[in-house]
Amino acid sequence: MKKIIAANWKMNPESAKEAEKIVKFLVESYTEKNVQLILFPPFVYFCRLRDELDNDADKFDWGAQDIFWEESGAYTGEISSAMLKSFWVQYVIIGHSERRWKLGETDEIINKKIKTALENGITPILAVGEKEKGDSVEKFLEDQLCKGLEDLDEKQISKIIIAYEPVWAIGTGSADNPEDTIKAVRIIKDIIGKMVGKEITDKIPVLYGGSVTSENARDFLSEKEINGALVGGASLNKEEFLKILNIAEKL
Ligand code: PEP
Repeated sequence: MKKIIAANWKMNPESAKEAEKIVKFLVESYTEKNVQLILFPPFVYFCRLRDELDNDADKFDWGAQDIFWEESGAYTGEISSAMLKSFWVQYVIIGHSERRWKLGETDEIINKKIKTALENGITPILAVGEKEKGDSVEKFLEDQLCKGLEDLDEKQISKIIIAYEPVWAIGTGSADNPEDTIKAVRIIKDIIGKMVGKEITDKIPVLYGGSVTSENARDFLSEKEINGALVGGASLNKEEFLKILNIAEKL
């Protein structure tokens, strides 16, 4: 399985010009071979990035930071799956802790978004993880996975990606350690295994996210059970992000 590096820019950078600089730098300095790179810019930059990059845009995969579950209609401010697909979006982050804990997104909403994404051929990256260091990892993962994946059939579950992101490690500069991450990955696989069996579960990629930098990327990515990284802050610093990509590339 190729390692997946997903760059979640969150509500950054400040201008489309800055966004363009990051992407053009990546186009010029990085050719992916052993890594699947997925960029998640804010919605409003898609149009400009796709126009400016033209064919180069196909060098990477594109993802959205959110999706709405209805197809169209009176939902002020929301973005539909059809709109995302018109900008070649193939992936969407669902259940990110910032949406869960800062914006009040519930497991029920997350479940609806996952279903909509799958129905429209967009791959959900479902983010799960405990809130505080010392919280019961099992309890959080069981709850978030069971509710987030409720009523999904085997075929649907086989298409998702999971990102294990302990909330206490996100944006804090204090990453988890690979040993505990692997324990969490095994818990995730056990929970999903009970839903769809081991054979399907073994093929579901599980990424780690939470303060990944060029300093610690190798520790996580060199582990077979960790299929990639969801990188926030460090993906906005183009030189730093290139280092992470090159580490993943050479593993
Ligand atoms: C994230 O946004 O999912 C994330 C992991 O952020 P950071 O890398 O900044 O901790």
